[in-house]
Amino acid sequence: MISIAMPMIGNEEISAVNDVLRSGMLAQGPKVAELEKAFAEYCGTKHALAVNSGTAAIHAALFAAGVQPGDEVITTPFSFIATINPILMLGATPVVVDIDSKTYNIDPQKIEAAITNKTKVILPVHLYGQPCDWSEIQSIADKYGLVAIEDACQAVGATYADKKAGGLGDLACFSLYATKNIMCGEGGMITTNSDEYADAIRRFRQHGMSGPYQYEHIGYNYRLTDLQAAIAVEQLNKADSFNKKRQENAESFNNALASIEGIELPFVEPDRTHVYHQYTIRITDKFPVSRDEFVQAIREKGIGAGVYYPKSLYSIKHIAESGRSAGELLETERACAQVVSLPIHPMLSKEDIDTVITAIKDIARNA
Ligand SMILES: *Cc1c(COP(=O)(O)O)cnc(C)c1O
Repeated sequence: MISIAMPMIGNEEISAVNDVLRSGMLAQGPKVAELEKAFAEYCGTKHALAVNSGTAAIHAALFAAGVQPGDEVITTPFSFIATINPILMLGATPVVVDIDSKTYNIDPQKIEAAITNKTKVILPVHLYGQPCDWSEIQSIADKYGLVAIEDACQAVGATYADKKAGGLGDLACFSLYATKNIMCGEGGMITTNSDEYADAIRRFRQHGMSGPYQYEHIGYNYRLTDLQAAIAVEQLNKADSFNKKRQENAESFNNALASIEGIELPFVEPDRTHVYHQYTIRITDKFPVSRDEFVQAIREKGIGAGVYYPKSLYSIKHIAESGRSAGELLETERACAQVVSLPIHPMLSKEDIDTVITAIKDIARNA
C-alpha cells in the first residue's frame, strides 16, 4: 500500500527526543523556546508561539484578535473543520465565502459582499499548500479595519511574492500534526509581529496567566511539550528539503498526467510557491469514470488516494446552524464532487511515483 501521508523521522529527531528524556524536563521549557526562535526566523516574523495543536493555534489567534460572541469571522467552507470550530468556541459566527475554481482558495472578489458591521476577522486558508490572494485580501482587511489571520496549517514554507506564509497576515496559524509537511505528532504554532498579540497568546495557552496566580482572562492548557518541540526543531531544519521533494514529485505527476483527458492538474499562481501538502487533481465529466469510481479503483490498486474535502463545512449541521453563507457556494460544491489527492509525501520512491502514474493511466484506458 502506498499511503497518502507518512512522516519522515530520522536519527536527528530520535536523538533530540532522547536528550530531552535524559534532561528530565519534559514539559514546556528550553526546547519550546528554541523552536519558537527558529520558527519566527524561518517565517520572517518577530514572534512565534508554540501550542499543542493547529486547532489551539487558531483558537488562540482568534482570541488575541479580540473575537467575541456576536462577532463575525469570514472564512472558507472548503477546508478542514478545525478552521471553523475555533470560531464557534469563541461564540462568534463563521461567515463562509465561495472559493476560486483554479486554486481552491477563498475568492477575494466575493469577500466584500460578506462584510457587515459585525465582521472582525478574515481567516483565509492556504489550501493544499498554496498561499491565497494575499494582496487582495489585505487591501480589504485594511479598508474595513479587519484583522487578517492566515490558516497556514498546510503551507509551512510556501511563499507569496517572495514572502513566507506566516509573515503575510496580522497573525498566522500552523499545525505540526503527524501528516503535515513538518510535524511532531501533535502541535501548533502562531506567528505575528505584534507584541500585544504575542503576550495575549502566551497568557491564553497557560490559563490566562500573566504572573504567579495572576489571571487576566480565561485561558486553556495549550502548552507544547519539550519532547514534541525537540522533534519539531529537527523537522524545521528539514522543511525546505521536504518541500523540494514534494515539488519534484508534483512535477513528475504534472508531466505524466497532463495529456490525460478529463483530469485537471493543480494550478499554481505565478507569484507563489506551492508546497503540496496535497497534490490535488479534479476528475471532470470528461474522464471515463466518476470521481468516486476513480478513488475506489486506485485504492484497489494499493494506492491511498484521499478526498479533501468531500463535504462543504457549511453542510455540517452545527456549522450551518450557527453560521451564515455569503451567497451560493457553487465552486465549493463542484470541488467537493471532483477533487482527489494523490500520495505526494517525501518518503515516496521513484517506483512509487511510477506505480501511481501507471495506475491512473490504466484506469483512464480500461474504464
Ligand atoms: C491540520 C489543519 C488544521 C488543524 O490542525 P490540528 O493540528 O490537526 O489541530 C487546521 N486547519 C487546516 C487547514 C488544517 O489542515
